[in-house]
Amino acid sequence: MTPITEIPYKENELLSAHTTFRVGGPAKKLYLPETGEQLIALKKHFAETSVPALVVGNGSNLLFSDAGFDGCIIKLENNYSNIEINDTRIVAQAGAKLSRLAACARDENLTGMEFAAGIPGTVGGAVCMNAGAYGGEMKDIVEWVNVIEEDGTERKYSNAELDFAYRHSAIGAGQIVESVCLKLFPGKREEIAARMDELKEKRKEKQPLEYPSAGSTFKRPEGYFAGKLIEDSGLKGYRVGGAMVSEKHAGFVINYDHATAQDICTLIKDVQRIVKEKQGVELTPEVKIIV
Ligand SMILES: Cc1cc2nc3c(=O)[nH]c(=O)nc-3n(C[C@H](O)[C@H](O)[C@H](O)COP(=O)(O)OP(=O)(O)OC[C@H]3O[C@@H](n4cnc5c(N)ncnc54)[C@H](O)[C@@H]3O)c2cc1C
Repeated sequence: MTPITEIPYKENELLSAHTTFRVGGPAKKLYLPETGEQLIALKKHFAETSVPALVVGNGSNLLFSDAGFDGCIIKLENNYSNIEINDTRIVAQAGAKLSRLAACARDENLTGMEFAAGIPGTVGGAVCMNAGAYGGEMKDIVEWVNVIEEDGTERKYSNAELDFAYRHSAIGAGQIVESVCLKLFPGKREEIAARMDELKEKRKEKQPLEYPSAGSTFKRPEGYFAGKLIEDSGLKGYRVGGAMVSEKHAGFVINYDHATAQDICTLIKDVQRIVKEKQGVELTPEVKIIV
């Protein structure tokens, strides 16, 4: 088995450099495995030593505390991002970015990924979250996922076994998505490109992409829109320290001006409390808060 010491890593790495919120203190070690063997070796090592470990993709749905993470991070991004295209199927390592996969699909005349072109993040993170937008979600295009289990063994899960639901999959905290097979459909490059451009424009117009954030902060409560509830509660522009409810889209909490993780957490709790008081609806964070 690959010795742990041979796997690239960074020590006391600030997690603010690995999350789109741009906040978060240090992790003891941040590993950057490049092969499946390295990934399995890490998983086995952490299982045997009981060191807390967490997988991070692009960090676009994560909020780490200012104290950081008292354990090790396994980062699966550009270091683990090979893509293979076979007819209408794309098999990608977990760290491949959705935007890159969508561009590959477009260039191969494959339709089905248009919804994902503007979602920041890796395909591994997108499977975990069942990421979706504009009427599409990962559930619609995932054929199977190769997972490294708690004990370091590998297992393939079919779409049905992944139990996809709104921003939910069966992937648990102890499992690592290693690779993903997407099943797409023959389409026309120009039409695919036009739809992707249209959706990207919509994002630019509606979302505060000029500020660090983790996208929609809250899940959509059944029968409502989180942004509308927040706006109707008079919270657009509400601030705690450097964190703010976006003026452009109230569903986004943004890092407006050197926010701390604490600012963002307090703001999230304030919004939940005020919306509950004024609208009678419970908001649940979509962002994974790691404290
Ligand atoms: C500007 C902006 C817009 C956004 N728009 C959307 C949108 O339209 N739709 C939407 O659904 N989301 C959206 N998001 C949220 C985010 O992009 C998605 O949730 C994305 O799928 C997260 O992928 P990631 O690689 O960044 O995952 P991370 O944030 O790194 O991780 C998210 C979760 O997945 C786990 N994880 C990550 N990789 C793996 C792996 N390989 N194996 C096991 N577990 C793993 C992490 O431990 C964590 O629990 C947006 C975010 C931003 C910043």
